[in-house]
Amino acid sequence: MNEEVIKVNHLSKSFGKHVVLRDIDFSVSTGDVTCIIGASGSGKSTLLRCMNLLETPTTGEILYHGKNIADGHTDAAGYRAKVGMVFQSFNLFNNMTVLQNCMIGQTKVMKKEKEAAKTSALTYLEKVGMAPYINARPRQLSGGQKQRVAIARALAMEPEVLLFDEPTSALDPQMVGEVLDVMQQLAKEGLTMIIVTHEMAFARDVSNHVVYMSDGVIEEEGTPHQIFTDPQSIKAKDFLSRFM
Ligand code: ADP
Ligand code: MG
Repeated sequence: MNEEVIKVNHLSKSFGKHVVLRDIDFSVSTGDVTCIIGASGSGKSTLLRCMNLLETPTTGEILYHGKNIADGHTDAAGYRAKVGMVFQSFNLFNNMTVLQNCMIGQTKVMKKEKEAAKTSALTYLEKVGMAPYINARPRQLSGGQKQRVAIARALAMEPEVLLFDEPTSALDPQMVGEVLDVMQQLAKEGLTMIIVTHEMAFARDVSNHVVYMSDGVIEEEGTPHQIFTDPQSIKAKDFLSRFM
């Protein structure tokens, strides 16, 4: 059994009277690739945002190595260096070059020296195939290239877990593959990842754990084989029948 890294305990989240997540329980161990699937509005992003401390749970806990990070006392920037996030809309700094985007977190949050940050940035830009673009600005890049830079930026923090919120949903179809290829490579190397996605083939082939959400609850979870070939709940069957 691999070590448990993140454990979500009885997490609920409301915005005013609107209950968006109810009593969510799940856990992730080292090396797990978890895909979270479900219809738009089911609470997937809110769950990921809670896990990245971009939202505060209304009730419940998020344990990171056994310590509740959702208690209002966690250094969010330090935690996010360990549990990073890649967004659908890239969230690159448009006024910085590709290289600067991949250095800023290292120098500001990790307090690394510039040279060390640059070396690390170049390593990860190389890894995602973006080393030739170090002096480019985000606006000069395609969506697929921007997302690969965002992944390199996240990797440069040497995170233990990476969260991805629909990383390919904003991309033109011909660019989806280049981003999924990078993610598949990271999975192969053993990076622990939690990925919200509508890419069902990717979830089936790359993940080892699939979580299906509906209306703010985990309706069903299991191995990709269980979820994609033998879903138990009617909602999961109905949702998946639209993709198969
Ligand atoms: P998904 O990512 O599965 O599409 P979200 O987590 O984005 O779902 O949203 C779940 C529900 O929470 C939606 O009804 C959405 O309108 C609502 N919601 C999300 N963020 C906020 C917010 N900041 N304020 C109010 N309602 C929100
Ligand atoms: Mg979402």
